[in-house]
Amino acid sequence: MKTLKCSDVGFDCAAVVTAETVEEVLAQAAAHAQKVHGVPVTPEMAEEIAEKIQEK
Ligand SMILES: [Zn+2]
Repeated sequence: MKTLKCSDVGFDCAAVVTAETVEEVLAQAAAHAQKVHGVPVTPEMAEEIAEKIQEK
């Protein structure tokens, strides 16, 4: 499983996104950032976020 902590991306947030693939984590993270933080994820941000994804 791929895991991404929202706090690792720089938000003061306890949310954790887990999914089978990097693409799915990015999709969920983008939806979360938009909905919860009101932040649209740019391609540049998506690249940074992808580097924070951990294998668990
Ligand atoms: Zn968050």
